[in-house]
Amino acid sequence: MTVSVVNPATEETIATLESAGVDDADAAVAQAKAAFPAWRAVSPADRGRLLRRLATLVEEHHEELSRIESANAGKPIAGARGEVGMVADVFHFYAGAVDKRHGETIPVAGGIDMTFREPLGVVGLIVPWNFPLNIASWKLGPALACGNTVVLKPAELTPLSALRLAELALDAGIPEGVVNVIVGKGSVVGQRLVEHPDVAKIGFTGSTEVGRGVMEGAAATIKRVTLELGGKSANIVFADADLERAASAAPYAVFDNAGQDCCARSRILVQRGVYDRFAELLIEATRNVRVGDPSDDATEMGPLISSAHRETVRSFVETTPLFEGDAPDGKGFWFPCTIVEATPDDRIAREEVFGPVAALIPFDDEADAIRIANDSPYGLSGSIWTQNGARALRVARALETGVLSINSNSSVRVSTPFGGFKQSGFGRELGMHGLEGYSEVKNVYYSTEG
Ligand code: NAD
Repeated sequence: MTVSVVNPATEETIATLESAGVDDADAAVAQAKAAFPAWRAVSPADRGRLLRRLATLVEEHHEELSRIESANAGKPIAGARGEVGMVADVFHFYAGAVDKRHGETIPVAGGIDMTFREPLGVVGLIVPWNFPLNIASWKLGPALACGNTVVLKPAELTPLSALRLAELALDAGIPEGVVNVIVGKGSVVGQRLVEHPDVAKIGFTGSTEVGRGVMEGAAATIKRVTLELGGKSANIVFADADLERAASAAPYAVFDNAGQDCCARSRILVQRGVYDRFAELLIEATRNVRVGDPSDDATEMGPLISSAHRETVRSFVETTPLFEGDAPDGKGFWFPCTIVEATPDDRIAREEVFGPVAALIPFDDEADAIRIANDSPYGLSGSIWTQNGARALRVARALETGVLSINSNSSVRVSTPFGGFKQSGFGRELGMHGLEGYSEVKNVYYSTEG
């Protein structure tokens, strides 16, 4: 069995790889298990040094990795460069974090009580195709910093950057067996990692549907899981917002990465008094999104990941759109920026599209905005646009979502926690919070009596 890796902008096969099976997954777990005792024994400062070398190698191979990611995922090269830059920053951050996460001493009678943060052992990391290397690094950084060894399973559609990163990890001096990458079907090798008795934890990013199965599968071995799942985030624009700023930013919050972004603000909620004016400004701004060849520095949006995914995205556009942008003809899985007027009950306003389709929804007042925004099984991200500071904080506290921005649409930073509420998952990645999911607290009591 082989995996054909296709460039979504040209439909050309750019690599053909062996597809791993259950035996290969078992072998990778065995390697990671064998490498664990030595890796956890590496002194914290040296583990930090190795992670920093990896970060530096990612920087030195920045353009190469960006090109791989752009060709494999169809993402504009400018965006890919930003993502690879973040990968290096993530490894720098966790290189510095290795020796800054302390245990506690707790006052108790008759002795001393102390806590340790122990690594889990072998962790399975399962990632999607939309930000392949970025999301892998969010898991690899804290997992390695805590002293775990890993088996990373990239999405079948986008394995190339993870394979290259594994080579760079070896070049950095991280011992063989610590970082293992297997390319294969989720239902085969992903499932095997979930069930494997020697895998202590699964760090998963992907769809809510597959995440549910991961959680079920992990139950048999009481495996730890963290889940970063789907989203249907709201971008809430109040009448007192700086409308020009909100409207010029809104397209990039939903059409970036061709809408294939778990944080996509794909529900744009606009207060009725300014709805028409905002819609005009939004259309004007969306018209300016440059869609085309991902290898062109000026391109802002590339194609979708696959032909099958394009059909799924198309199925969501059930009415005549308010606006439809341009997209290249011919080869490539292109889909135009699309804005649809919707009510909160429409399918387009309820389900994750994972494509460049925005639902524009009016609301009456603050309470109505909160009600509509929270009326979703998801709770990942979102934005609030208003010049009233008290309202901004009131609404931020009321929204059932893990990552919010006020007068901005940016929710992902290396040093701040990222993750969802409700069916968008649980556990946090990035920042110091990201370390929580890759270690176990051990409590030790030492009697000082006698
Ligand atoms: P997916 O759930 O289909 O696949 C994700 C990964 O799981 C892939 O590596 C896949 O091979 C693997 N997989 C599939 N079946 C499996 C199984 N039975 N057992 C174990 N692993 C299995 O998701 P996708 O289509 O690759 O990515 C899109 C989804 O990811 C969207 O829903 C998006 O919202 C979500 N996502 C979430 C975040 C976040 O941080 N919350 C980030 C990016 C993407």
